[in-house]
Amino acid sequence: PRLANQIAAGEVVERPSSVVKELIENAIDAGSQRIEVELEGGGARLIKVRDDGGGIAEDDLPLALSRHATSKIESLEDLEGVASLGFRGEALASISSVSRLELVSNTADNPAAGWRVVAEGRQMEPRVSPAPHPRGTSVAVRDLFFNTPARRKFLRTEKTEFAHVEEAFRRLALSRYDIGWTLRHNQKTLHQLRPATDAAAGERRVSALLGGKFLDNALHLDIEASGLRLWGWVGLPTHSRAQADQQYFFVNGRVVRDRLVAHAIRQAYRDVLFHGRQPVFVLYLELDPAVVDVNVHPTKHEVRFRDGRLVHDFLFSSLHRALAEVRP
Ligand code: ADP
Ligand code: MG
Repeated sequence: PRLANQIAAGEVVERPSSVVKELIENAIDAGSQRIEVELEGGGARLIKVRDDGGGIAEDDLPLALSRHATSKIESLEDLEGVASLGFRGEALASISSVSRLELVSNTADNPAAGWRVVAEGRQMEPRVSPAPHPRGTSVAVRDLFFNTPARRKFLRTEKTEFAHVEEAFRRLALSRYDIGWTLRHNQKTLHQLRPATDAAAGERRVSALLGGKFLDNALHLDIEASGLRLWGWVGLPTHSRAQADQQYFFVNGRVVRDRLVAHAIRQAYRDVLFHGRQPVFVLYLELDPAVVDVNVHPTKHEVRFRDGRLVHDFLFSSLHRALAEVRP
């Protein structure tokens, strides 16, 4: 099974940023209020994600590292409208098959309690040993791809790998204002984001992550129709070109990169005034979870809407109307 894990690892674990994404998603699923991410060497040397979520019970610790051991789904019917981010139970197994992984967790409020399990490449130490840890979980991933040199060779410079990690962090931190976040690289704190649920929480989070200038040249919108709600910010043409890659779209709080969505936004931009410009946006689409499947693929961020046409038209017309109003 470890070999199968290494093969599967290719799908889920491409580079440090994919590890960070999977670990953060697990932390979110565990109901965490604070998530700390710490890296060394762009993540190739160390990736550590620490959370204050529900934790993993002693008996479940070795299970968490074995393939298809997900605690998040009881039956096939659960797949319909599944709310959690992970559901395949292969991320931790895959990551541990290509790294030195240490998992420390505690489900109790007593910080002296807690358990630890380690795995090193194909070798998993089955013994769980006591280790103090506050309620929650810490996962440390060291020496990514140490046993798959071909894969390790594909890692780029520390700077490039960290840029990918920061981008993954940004997307996830933009998806949950109510969670407090920290990002550290080589002992330096780069982001420290306080949790908040007040009306200005979004603006603070967006300027902290995308720079204060983002909102200066953006239009805020909040539109609701036929059971769909679209809110967030779209950049206006005065927006500097340097920010052209700032495209963030969330469906029911999940990061999504989808062709139908991209098409609708591009269309609205092109129609109104943004000839030749890349759209810039942070947008949140909310709809009945029963009419959208966000778990089409574990890493590709695609979605499947039951009525794609309706969603496309809603996105297009909402943006079109909002942008046309501010046309210079
Ligand atoms: P999945 O997220 O698809 O279930 P993973 O391999 O990512 O699969 O995780 C396996 C299991 O380990 C999860 O289902 C969960 O029960 C447990 N787990 C992993 N990370 C955490 C965490 N940070 N807090 C609590 N439980 C966790
Ligand atoms: Mg997971």
